[in-house]
Amino acid sequence: MPPPCMRCDSQRVINLETARKLGIAAGAVAGTLKGAYASLHGPGRLIPTTAFPIGRVAAAVMAGTSGGIAGAAAGHRVVLHLFPAGEGTPWLCLGCGHAFRDLG
Ligand SMILES: [Zn+2]
Repeated sequence: MPPPCMRCDSQRVINLETARKLGIAAGAVAGTLKGAYASLHGPGRLIPTTAFPIGRVAAAVMAGTSGGIAGAAAGHRVVLHLFPAGEGTPWLCLGCGHAFRDLG
């Protein structure tokens, strides 16, 4: 049971720890897709046309993986920015945007 918002008393609060994990996952997926898409469809040929097509796919996977890591880091930073200082469980109110911690 989440605590009510300290500012507006709303019960519509989300756990920032959960949001952080979701942010990392979403960022990683977005980064992976973006990296893979860019290297498969982007301008400039990384691999000569005489090479096996698998080379291009491998390059896309590599780019996607590094993009996923960067995306996860970005998602992590975005949510960390919302974290209030202090101890306890971090919560974010969806009613007024107030972030607070609950020691309960
Ligand atoms: Zn609130």
